[in-house]
Amino acid sequence: MRRWTEPSFVPESILPLSQPTGGPLERQLARQRARRPANPLLSLVVPVFNEEESIDLFLTTVPPLLERDGLRFEIVFVNDGSRDGTLGHLLDSAARDRRLRVVNLSRNFGKEAALTAGIDHAKGDVIVPMDIDLQDPPELIGPFMSRWREGYDIVYGVRTQRAWDTAAKRLSASWFYRVFNSMSPVRIPENVGDFRLVDRRAIEVLRQLPERNRFMKGLFAWVGFNAVGVPYERPQRAAGSSKFNFWRLWNFALDGVVSFSTAPLRAWFYVGVVIAAIAVLYALFIVTRVLILGIDTPGYASLLIAVLLMGAIQLLSLGIIGEYLGRLFLEVKSRPIYVVEGVYENGDTDPPRP
Ligand code: UDP
Ligand code: MG
Repeated sequence: MRRWTEPSFVPESILPLSQPTGGPLERQLARQRARRPANPLLSLVVPVFNEEESIDLFLTTVPPLLERDGLRFEIVFVNDGSRDGTLGHLLDSAARDRRLRVVNLSRNFGKEAALTAGIDHAKGDVIVPMDIDLQDPPELIGPFMSRWREGYDIVYGVRTQRAWDTAAKRLSASWFYRVFNSMSPVRIPENVGDFRLVDRRAIEVLRQLPERNRFMKGLFAWVGFNAVGVPYERPQRAAGSSKFNFWRLWNFALDGVVSFSTAPLRAWFYVGVVIAAIAVLYALFIVTRVLILGIDTPGYASLLIAVLLMGAIQLLSLGIIGEYLGRLFLEVKSRPIYVVEGVYENGDTDPPRP
């Protein structure tokens, strides 16, 4: 079995804020520490979509590890409208093990919605969202728990190397973090996925956020509280294949930026100011030239370029406005984030919850 080893390289950005003992952070942590239950319930929230190859490996790896660490836990699987044998597999496992619960969504709602559903159904004092493909090493949960016992409310896993991701994915990810953080008032830490431990009090805040567009990393960052990172090396997918292709990732990134920043909307004001200034200067130049040199037929090329440029800029800015308007439309309709077909545990069935 893979072992978790602390990588020697720890990026500076993830170290906890300077913490002189006796300082405000130390005092906040001490207070949280005192409130920690002795035997907390840990909820793993695992969204699954067409993952029949991964379930067995997950169930033979993760529970024994948690038992070894002496942790009390439940696992909430969210079946996100899988079209293969995933649900049957999950129900069989849940019938055998009382610690497993299956929240079955009525169709595929996407990973963010599935995570939201799982978080809503988790009962734990701490919650850890986790992928089923073992790319989030379960060996890290022990170190997560010890940081939590120190008083941190959010402990996130930081990927130190992503050798298994393609170069394009790594590059686009690093661009995304840069663009997002330069535009958004809340910063998301770089190279942090959904794999993290979250205390109940942060979960309760998260659950009050009403938006339909669940960009989880951003929402967690918005919630705040004292957070600390634990570095890890992200392994390759254990089985099956990635569910995120280029378009899904692009839309995900767009959702993220647009739901946390109005900078793209505001940028057009400045573009307009610059173009207007250029136009005024050019007009002054032409008028002066006509006054001095007399009438002259102006260039066809420069006219065409100006018209095309203005048209392109208007279309672009309309597109950006459309992005926001579309999201506004989705939020205003206030449809639920997910629909639960049923919650299955101990082999019996609950009535579907809204
Ligand atoms: N997933 C999901 N709904 C979706 C797509 C993915 O619940 O529409 C789940 C998937 O089953 C897995 C997790 O989200 O447990 C992460 O997906 P994946 O490993 O494909 O993403 P990657 O690691 O490639 O970013
Ligand atoms: Mg994965």
